[in-house]
Amino acid sequence: RASSESPPASPENAIENVVIIGSGPAGFTAAIYAARANLKPLVFEGYQSGPGGQLMTTTEVENFPGFPEGITGPDLMERMRKQAERWGAELYQEDVESIDVKTRPFTVESSERKVKCNSLIFATGATAKRLRIPREDEFWSRGISACAICDGASPLFKGQVLAVVGGGDTATEEALYLTKYARHIHLLVRRDQLRASRAMQDRVYNNPNITLHFNTEAVDIISNTKGQMSGILIRKLDSGEESVIEAKGLFYGIGHSPNSRLLEGQVELDSSGYVLVEEGTAKTSVEGVFAAGDVQDHEWRQAVTAAGSGCIAALSVERYLVGKD
Ligand code: FAD
Repeated sequence: RASSESPPASPENAIENVVIIGSGPAGFTAAIYAARANLKPLVFEGYQSGPGGQLMTTTEVENFPGFPEGITGPDLMERMRKQAERWGAELYQEDVESIDVKTRPFTVESSERKVKCNSLIFATGATAKRLRIPREDEFWSRGISACAICDGASPLFKGQVLAVVGGGDTATEEALYLTKYARHIHLLVRRDQLRASRAMQDRVYNNPNITLHFNTEAVDIISNTKGQMSGILIRKLDSGEESVIEAKGLFYGIGHSPNSRLLEGQVELDSSGYVLVEEGTAKTSVEGVFAAGDVQDHEWRQAVTAAGSGCIAALSVERYLVGKD
C-alpha cells in the first residue's frame, strides 16, 4: 500500500528521531519544521483518505494567510506536501494501524512497516459528524458545510436563506455567526429545547433573523432544475409531517469526532476523545508524545491554527530530543 514514490523502508533496527502521523496542515507543518531542523521526520500520511486531510474535501479556502485571491483546499495541501518533501521529510501513504508509547523507543506500525522512534507527533485530525442524508455527498461543499467560519462569507451563501442543524453550542454559534452574512437562518433542532448554554440560547431567541424549529430533522436536500440546492425537506418528529423550507445552504453543527482511537488507553484523552495537551503546548500526558491540530482542539478547528500547533509540536520535539525540555 505504499505509494510508488515511497522511499525505501528504514533498516529494521533504526530508531527514528520523530514520526508524524497525519498529513493535514498540522502534520505537514510539523514535517516542514522537523525536516528543516535536520530531524529527518517520517510522516504517515494516511491511506484511506489519502494525503492532505480535511481540506481535500473543500473547494476555495479564503482565510489562509498568503493567498489574497484564495486557493483551493487540494492546491494548498499539495503545496504544503511539496514543501515538506523538499526539506527531506519521508512520506508514506499508509494508515498507522497501531502504536505503542508505553515502552521506549515508541513503536508505530502500518500494514507495510514497523518503525521505532524517540518521539511522536500525533496530528490525525477530526471528522465532522454527518447526518448521512441521501444527497449529502452530492451537495457536500456545494450547499452543505460543516464550518460557518470557513464558508459563511462565500458568494454561495451571502445574502441567502440558510439552515443550521443542531441544538448545542456549536450549532447556535454557527447560526449566530451566519446571521452576519445570510438573509435569514432556520435552526433545525431534533429535541424540544436547545442544549446550548443559557447565554447562547438568549442570543438566539433574541435574534429576529433566526427561526427555531424544534422536534425537527433534516430529511434531504431539494434542488432546482439547474441542480443547485434550493431547499431542505424537513420532518416534524412529533407528528411525522414533512415540508420543504427554502434554503441555499445547510450547515452541520452536530460536532466533530477526533481521530484519536490509536491513543486510547495510552495518553490522556478528554471525555469526547480529544487528546489532552498541557495548556499552550503540544505536550501530551506521555513525555515525547506531542499532539497538534484538530485532534487536540475542540474549539478553533482552523487550518491556520492546526498549522500553528504543528509548528509548536515540531519545535517541542527538537527541544525534547536535545534534552532541554
Ligand atoms: P486534518 O486536516 O483532519 O488531517 C488529518 C490527517 O490525519 C489526514 O491526512 C488523515 O489521513 C490522517 N490520519 C488520520 N488517521 C490516520 C492514521 N491512522 N494513520 C495515518 N494518517 C492518519 N479551515 C480553514 O481554516 N479554512 C477553511 O476554509 C476551511 N474549510 C473547511 C472545509 C471543510 C469541508 C472542512 C471539513 C474543514 C474546513 N476547515 C477549514 C477546517 C480545516 O480543514 C481543519 O481545521 C484542518 O484541516 C485541521 O488540520 P489537521 O492537520 O489537524 O487535521
